Amino acid sequence: MTGEQDIPRLVLFPQTAEVNQKDHLVIGGCDSVALAEEFGTPLYVFDEVDLRSRCAEFKAEFKQRYPDTTVCYSAKAFTARAMLQLVKEEGLDLDVVSGGELGIARSLDFPMERVHFPGNNKSAEELEMAIQYGIGHVVVDNPHELDMLREIAGKRKVNILLRLSPGIDAHTHQYNTTGTVDSKFGFTRSTWDEAVNTALAAPNLNVNGLHFHIGSGIFEMEPYEKAIEVMLEYAATIKQRHNFEIRVLSIGGGFGVQYTVEEVPPPIATWAEVIVNKITSQCRELKLSLPRLIVEPGRAIVARAGVALYRVGVIKDIPGIRGYVCVDGGMGDNIRQPMYGARQEALVANRVAARETGKVTIAGKYCESGDILIRDISMPELKAGDILAVAGSGAYCIPLQSNYNASFRPAIVFVREGKARLIRRRETLEDLTRHDVV
Ligand SMILES: *Cc1c(COP(=O)(O)O)cnc(C)c1O
Repeated sequence: MTGEQDIPRLVLFPQTAEVNQKDHLVIGGCDSVALAEEFGTPLYVFDEVDLRSRCAEFKAEFKQRYPDTTVCYSAKAFTARAMLQLVKEEGLDLDVVSGGELGIARSLDFPMERVHFPGNNKSAEELEMAIQYGIGHVVVDNPHELDMLREIAGKRKVNILLRLSPGIDAHTHQYNTTGTVDSKFGFTRSTWDEAVNTALAAPNLNVNGLHFHIGSGIFEMEPYEKAIEVMLEYAATIKQRHNFEIRVLSIGGGFGVQYTVEEVPPPIATWAEVIVNKITSQCRELKLSLPRLIVEPGRAIVARAGVALYRVGVIKDIPGIRGYVCVDGGMGDNIRQPMYGARQEALVANRVAARETGKVTIAGKYCESGDILIRDISMPELKAGDILAVAGSGAYCIPLQSNYNASFRPAIVFVREGKARLIRRRETLEDLTRHDVV
């Protein structure tokens, strides 16, 4: 077996990733080249051990420092039923952002008191559904929703959190920033007082606390510390004015993950340490009781556990300009590069240890010039038929998939101890035409 010291990119792959005697990439004890043969490409492979240990790590690192923590998986990062079932088994709560996600959770008998519902433009139907199911919290986002919810709730009592926009820049991609003043998410500062007045006065709303979520793919501690400061100072103001203490503080998700060898985010233990220290010291200073803490990781639970396998087809060399290596997937199954300029890395699954010979651009098969998976990546000489394994494909790839060019969305397998379990089959022509009315 070959280790990380020989192949630096192996650290970006799931924790069970190794290289076998055939020089093939192995995940969860399964030879990835054999998986590509058996299930076809593109194929999304998730390491179940990695997924479960990430859930356990979040729980352990926060709870040992702050026992009253609830870890809540943000379903939108990867929403397959098998994933939500795993989350249920691991004892995490669930964040949903739509009636669809709520419906999937319900279809798995996910305990509804462990489900929370943020989102910036929930429909009346979605709010009704949330109330009927008796979910843990509706995370109220704006004045309009607050009015709607009071109306729809009627005589029923609804547990809510108020999502306040703290006006903080998390220094991530513009499309991944949610906590700045200029954001569509959360109550803006000028509406906080009125939101609190209205919510506390509503007999059918049970205000449990405050919520913020400052963005995604964050590498810095400081934005969290600042946001906690802003929120708890405001909690102290609420206490003074209304003699009401918040019982819950949700700090959202957004914890960055390692997509490249060079850029290493803080480990989960460090996030936990800094966040918990900030909350406890701030509460002491402001004479607030410690609230229940909710953390909502999505990406950090699933990103590294997922690997996408593609087959190499056309190779086009434009001398002096660029070499394109085209694979049988692309923006239809992973739009992160075109959408966010996101960077991922890859290995040749059938010749992992092969020496790199130069830079190429990995392109997809879709009819868009922007259909790029990885720009300018150093690779060995590639040839048609090679299997490319793209690391860090577990989060925000599958849920953003499309049927552009009438492509079939790929199959997904969970691997563990040498066994592969199909959790979503590849689409067929029948799937593509099923909804059309002729
Ligand atoms: C998307 C989202 C998260 C999860 O973000 P990650 O970057 O995937 O950790 C958590 N909370 C809310 C409210 C979100 O919208």
